[in-house]
Amino acid sequence: MSVHRTDVAIIGAGPVGLFAVFECGMLKMRCHVIDALDAAGGQCAALYPEKPIYDIPGYPRIEAQALIDQLQQQAAPFAPVYHLGQRVESLAAEGEDWRLTTSTGATIVARAVIVAAGVGAFTPARPPLARLAEFEGKSVHYLVKRRENFRGKRVVIAGGGDSALDWSLSLAEIAARVLVVHRRDKFRGAPESVARLQALAAEGKIEIVTPFQLDALEGEGGALTAVVVKDLDGRTRRLEADQMLAFFGLAQSLGPVAGWGLALEHKLVKVDPASCMTSVAGIHAIGDVASYPGKLKLILTGFAEAASAAHAIHPRVHPGEALHFEYSTTKGVPAAKPA
Ligand SMILES: Cc1cc2nc3c(=O)[nH]c(=O)nc-3n(C[C@H](O)[C@H](O)[C@H](O)COP(=O)(O)OP(=O)(O)OC[C@H]3O[C@@H](n4cnc5c(N)ncnc54)[C@H](O)[C@@H]3O)c2cc1C
Repeated sequence: MSVHRTDVAIIGAGPVGLFAVFECGMLKMRCHVIDALDAAGGQCAALYPEKPIYDIPGYPRIEAQALIDQLQQQAAPFAPVYHLGQRVESLAAEGEDWRLTTSTGATIVARAVIVAAGVGAFTPARPPLARLAEFEGKSVHYLVKRRENFRGKRVVIAGGGDSALDWSLSLAEIAARVLVVHRRDKFRGAPESVARLQALAAEGKIEIVTPFQLDALEGEGGALTAVVVKDLDGRTRRLEADQMLAFFGLAQSLGPVAGWGLALEHKLVKVDPASCMTSVAGIHAIGDVASYPGKLKLILTGFAEAASAAHAIHPRVHPGEALHFEYSTTKGVPAAKPA
């Protein structure tokens, strides 16, 4: 396996990791970006690509995938090298540098590391149902990649939180039928969403199936025909359905990051907010994975952290070179050095 050498290794190609490529590039630092998922975009691309985001400065409304596309375009002049579909498993010092190894055996040696690992490995909580694997990715899903796929379909939505409510309201506009299954009569989501759900149920556009839990899946060859649900007294109902969406939350774990000797707090990486440096010099953490007093887990916060980390890393990558703070309007986008 070849060894890649670069200035900065960025772990995580979520929105914040992508913006870090730009910030490093503006300071003439080349980047390699590694992500466990097959595509860049982190939570935005994997969990809510078609949802509009309203709090990105300068964009009154932008769909999550469109934001990722823009961030990749903004990073492109700096020719980052992406290593997708591979998890960074180990991180070890090598002289002045850091050596990262990935799950596919790639090795990246970098002068500095930016951990932008978000919530770590995020895996949706799966309901304990027999034959579940047969249907997963075909007719049972844990996120909506493309809303249009549900047009004209009979959809069972399981869960009682915001994702279940949001998608019930949204898919009621295009699905043939939406049935919302929750084990309690009360929903946990935003009160306005609950009120809208109840209004749509009263109009017959949504059916609320409570207090019921998922019990079994029926169908052949990955194509669902019905979802069987059961209440606490053991009474069952058979809900005819083509598709099921289960929103039982995300199981979050930092994964390998937790074993790299970085100081942690509340299962996140503790940083100095001024530089986003971790407890280890040369390793910085930004975005959702970074923790400090008053931290807001927002994309815009992560963008600012990317700028702070890049400035803090500069002396390590370019020792002895004076760093004059400059606006992008002054210097433009400098030509990238080859990665
Ligand atoms: C439904 C929903 C709606 C949201 N709405 C908003 C909103 O309106 N406004 C807002 O500001 N925020 C919103 N957020 C939060 C926002 O998405 C996160 O704050 C943002 O994604 C954090 O970006 P990040 O780059 O730090 O991490 P992530 O987006 O989590 O990306 C981290 C990446 O790191 C990768 N990774 C982790 N560990 C490793 C490893 N060891 N090796 C390789 N790769 C690794 C992961 O695969 C992932 O792709 C929302 C989140 C959700 C779920």
